[in-house]
Amino acid sequence: MNNSSIIKCRTCGSKNRVLFDKIEDVPRCGKCGAPLVIHDSAISIGERDFGIEVLNETLPVAVDFWAPWCGPCRMVSPVLEEIAHEHPGRIKVVKINSDENQTLTAQYGIQGIPTIILFRDGKELDRLVGVAPKDDIKRFLHL
Ligand SMILES: [Zn+2]
Repeated sequence: MNNSSIIKCRTCGSKNRVLFDKIEDVPRCGKCGAPLVIHDSAISIGERDFGIEVLNETLPVAVDFWAPWCGPCRMVSPVLEEIAHEHPGRIKVVKINSDENQTLTAQYGIQGIPTIILFRDGKELDRLVGVAPKDDIKRFLHL
């Protein structure tokens, strides 16, 4: 299994290889010294940030389309949060409120929520619709 990830520096754009089994403190960009952003929790974004946070991300990204009124979403959400916490530098978890981001929701043809879409290099690899056990979600995310 690959034990490193490529993290793109937000300051200078250089790509840095980071060993994720020995992430100590904050890894820094080898070129400009800026801290590299590695999330260990889910982040909530909207349409405006979708490009930078998902499409331009060098890590695999799990995008969770959800809504506050959706009961099954509240079951999947804490599982994704745990996964984000357990695998920083290997997967990034992004939450999108489908009510507030209807353009994206339509663009990706979301039929029901929760829907988790796995992105890699800006492309959809796969999607998982509905509630699934943590092990299945991890398998879906190649973790
Ligand atoms: Zn840099």
